Amino acid sequence: MKKTAYLCITALILSFTLKPSTVNAAASPVQETAKTSNHTAGIKQEQPGTLEEPAASEKPAPSEKPAASEEPAPSEEPAPSEEPAPSEEPAPSEEPAPSEEPAPSEEPAPSEEPTAEIPVQLLGANAAEKTVTLKWDNVNNAEEYVVFFLKNKTWIEISRTQETTGTFSLAGYGTKNSFKICSYNSEQRQTGESSEIKVLIPAKIKKLQTTAYSKTKVKLNWKAAKGADSYYIYGKQDGKKYKLIKTVKKTDARLNIKDKKNYRFKIVPLFKSTLGTIAGTASETSYKNTEFVSMGHQKYTYSEMCSDIQSLCKKYSEYVSYETIGYSEKGRKIYDVILGDKEADHTILVVSTLHAREYIATVVCMKQLEYYLLNYNKTVDGKKLSDIFSNCNVHYIMMANPDGVIISQTNKARWKGNANGVNLNRNFPYAFKRDGSPKDGSYSGKKAASESETQAIVSLTKKLNKTQTLAVVSYHAMGQIVFGDYGGKNQKLRSDITNMYKIARNTTGYSSAANYGGTSNGNYREYLTYKMKVPSVTIEVGSVSCPVPKYQYASAFNRNKLLILREAAWLENNF
Ligand SMILES: [Zn+2]
Repeated sequence: MKKTAYLCITALILSFTLKPSTVNAAASPVQETAKTSNHTAGIKQEQPGTLEEPAASEKPAPSEKPAASEEPAPSEEPAPSEEPAPSEEPAPSEEPAPSEEPAPSEEPAPSEEPTAEIPVQLLGANAAEKTVTLKWDNVNNAEEYVVFFLKNKTWIEISRTQETTGTFSLAGYGTKNSFKICSYNSEQRQTGESSEIKVLIPAKIKKLQTTAYSKTKVKLNWKAAKGADSYYIYGKQDGKKYKLIKTVKKTDARLNIKDKKNYRFKIVPLFKSTLGTIAGTASETSYKNTEFVSMGHQKYTYSEMCSDIQSLCKKYSEYVSYETIGYSEKGRKIYDVILGDKEADHTILVVSTLHAREYIATVVCMKQLEYYLLNYNKTVDGKKLSDIFSNCNVHYIMMANPDGVIISQTNKARWKGNANGVNLNRNFPYAFKRDGSPKDGSYSGKKAASESETQAIVSLTKKLNKTQTLAVVSYHAMGQIVFGDYGGKNQKLRSDITNMYKIARNTTGYSSAANYGGTSNGNYREYLTYKMKVPSVTIEVGSVSCPVPKYQYASAFNRNKLLILREAAWLENNF
């Protein structure tokens, strides 16, 4: 019964639309109350039993009364004499003029005793149910209290009660709502009146986004919520409890996090009313440092790389995938990571870390890939990455020599060859010459492409060259130089190599490798140039010596981060 009555009133109130301009900012004597921030479920709703009969009130709404109230009447109040009957009231019209009502004109001061000011407190706000719970002071000799709601500049009775608390519905999120509470004595005379109580539950925020700043910093930003004047930011690591991190007026914040940990963040819009803080509904998002590839340690391992490739391919599955193109001599998978549209007409093949101790090249390439993925739908260097990589994809062989890298990282730091001690860059099937010994880092292997790593690279090179327009970038270390020489007579190939070389020099700032020796046997770059007729450049990243110390990783990455993008942009525009 009571429930029904409540629902009826709720429905009635929910249909209200208030003009913000009708709210009168009269100074309120109501003291600030304890902050209420039950943004989730809000306080436990009391049964709205405080709402009694929603029947027609015989009492006029307070604004229509010329009662002896010291409080300035709401400005939007119509002149009392012009409106003797409270016609806006949801009262049955059969009751035309309640005789008990003091006619305003005849009785300008119906109440001898002054009307008391009724202090009101905000007990809680429930964003989910769009309700507020108010509590007010007892007024002596009050027989009942009437709660009014401001609708279309007119105070409408929504509840009458003998209690001094009640839960009332609001028109909606982000909409201003005004209440007023009046007390009446047994003679139906008004004895007290509250100030106008303005309540607003801010709308839920939208477009909550997280952006990785670094491995230990995340940026949150969102769209301002209607009615909100500030926001709580809560955060937690998975499995822990939410903590209030800070309160902001802006719609963004930078927060410190721990790398590789799962976080959840919650933004709660706030409205600061004279009654305290009213919190809207929280918006949540989860976050894990999106940068998987770490440059924070020197030994970037094969298994770490495998895990990062899987994480990137999972997170950015629309733009990147990987395939196994072969196995190392010890049976480790050699991956080809494909960035962009697999069906693109053009492709850049990036081959990294043929030489074991040069694994800085794997870090640089992994970081480069991640950089492209993080910015895939953005414009970088004046190029929309999604456009470039949909016309020219990139195949990355991130670690061509995993067995050798493991040897270098665990046992012999200066190891250069594969597990058999073969220098893979002497093992390619062009101008092959059996040379060196497995121990000195220049061993060619017994025959051309004897090694499974070489076979995997040759096979992918051939396959790509058949189906796409191919250019190759090889990453080695160290020296900060670029190889881009050409000794043949093919003008097109010369021009292509020259273009790639210029882009590489300009982008990285590295020197020419023109003075670094002549040709070598079984070399991948010569195999590409003279056998496959594929343009390529070879980049040597880092300085000092191999393995390159980790402090050089970031600068090597920065010098190279745009390189493949620029080579791809060139390739797709020049064929
Ligand atoms: Zn090398």
